[in-house]
Amino acid sequence: MDLSKLGFSTRSVHAGAGPDPTTGARAVPIYQTTSFVFRDTEHAEALFALKEAGNIYSRIMNPTNSALEERITSLEGGAGALALASGQSAISLALLNICGQGDEIISSSGLYGGTYNLFSHTFAKFGIKVFFAGEGEKDHFKRYIGEKTKAFYVETLSNPRLDLPDLEGLADLARETGVPLIVDNTLLTPFLFKPLDWGANLVVYSATKYLGGHGNSIGGIIVDGGNFPWNNGKFADLSEGDPTYHNISYTDTFGPSAFIVKARVHLLRDLGPAMSPFNAFLFLQGLETLSLRMKKHVQNAQEVAKFLHSHKGVKWVNYPGLPSGHSYGRAQRCLPEGAGAIITFGLAGGSIGSFINSLNLFSLLANVGDARSLVIHPAGTTHQQLSEAERNLAGVSDDLIRISIGIEDAEDLIADLKQALERSELR
Ligand SMILES: *Cc1c(COP(=O)(O)O)cnc(C)c1O
Repeated sequence: MDLSKLGFSTRSVHAGAGPDPTTGARAVPIYQTTSFVFRDTEHAEALFALKEAGNIYSRIMNPTNSALEERITSLEGGAGALALASGQSAISLALLNICGQGDEIISSSGLYGGTYNLFSHTFAKFGIKVFFAGEGEKDHFKRYIGEKTKAFYVETLSNPRLDLPDLEGLADLARETGVPLIVDNTLLTPFLFKPLDWGANLVVYSATKYLGGHGNSIGGIIVDGGNFPWNNGKFADLSEGDPTYHNISYTDTFGPSAFIVKARVHLLRDLGPAMSPFNAFLFLQGLETLSLRMKKHVQNAQEVAKFLHSHKGVKWVNYPGLPSGHSYGRAQRCLPEGAGAIITFGLAGGSIGSFINSLNLFSLLANVGDARSLVIHPAGTTHQQLSEAERNLAGVSDDLIRISIGIEDAEDLIADLKQALERSELR
């Protein structure tokens, strides 16, 4: 059966996962094993030379992880995927697969805090220079292009600015300049938005958020669009021989899967941030209800945003699904299924501390994309260590409160916010 013709929800449940061939188990088994027995020495040698595909060692591949990789590949419409230990490792490997000392990356500025630190501090130590080019507009990125540019990087819904980049413009620029466009689509998920359909080349996820959806496991995924010409002369590590595998050329040997095969057999082999099969099992289960959950997340968020907008205790609200949200126009065009479930807002005069401390259903913690509703004050927590200039660049004003709307009943969330807003004004 050709799954690619079937709907998103059907693929969320079926892609990558038939009955287990040896036991008939219907749910994907957790293959909790480090290694896999080779049929004989010839088989072992062929696997190690990449002449034949097969399981060797769970640091680089595992059947439970493979089912997850196949499922997300189907949902995105990509050529392949690689499951990793965290979103941070997915972002790191996606970029290190094509960038080395002396290379340059052009990124939007409104980034997840961990990504900002990785780019501005850790990559700098590796000799990789990242230019922060504003909010994902083609003209801003264009200014920084040079001989050494190896990647364009954006978040589809930046956190916590909630900006939507001009993906079509950036994809044009990527094609014109022979540089791949890498997109962190964590806050939208393939249910709300498919970056590959808009011309992106690679998609990265923190599966920790909506893909898992229940706030119980850390994981990350790289999806390869299979749509970038890595043999264009700029990416010798992919097109020339790899001395650790008999000098094979990834582009010649693996065609559209060149990038993702190299990420696995070279970088994951050497750096080692493997996802545990148990987490892969939980992410597979999470994906089965992704469409149901995302519908409820965005429906709740729309109602909560409307409520906040109408409340006199709230000074401003930024939600891309509201006309007052700064990405409203683009969201109307690009996000027909909903504008995500993250809302930011500022209080009119009440105390941020007593507002947050008075919430009962919202958990005060550093995460998003949980089935439960969450709240945080970024300037006091996640962005505390940044300078004022860096905070401004990231769009984190001192009064910004971020909420991640869960799948509870909207009227209960609204009632909780209402009583906390009232208390925040008592001081
Ligand atoms: C959480 C997050 C990450 C990092 O993912 P981890 O799984 O925590 O390593 C990266 N990008 C975005 C947008 C995130 O929300």
